[in-house]
Amino acid sequence: MKIGITDSYRSFDVQEDVVRRKGLYSEGGLGAAPGTSPHGWGMAVDLDLDPAAQEWMRLNAGRFGFVEDTLREAWHWVYRPTR
Ligand SMILES: [Zn+2]
Repeated sequence: MKIGITDSYRSFDVQEDVVRRKGLYSEGGLGAAPGTSPHGWGMAVDLDLDPAAQEWMRLNAGRFGFVEDTLREAWHWVYRPTR
């Protein structure tokens, strides 16, 4: 099982670059509009997960406050504790 990190905090400028390179999520791309991404608040990570790690995250991440909330982005996990 492998859990790596490919991206975490992103500044506004870097988010603008992501949108330039990958397109807006609302238009079929992979970038949130600058100013709206949880990466800009330091509350999201993009993980490098093999299949076993993906399954482990889906079963256990919630216990640590992480949710998988973005369709088409199985690597994107947001920290959203419920209490
Ligand atoms: Zn992400």
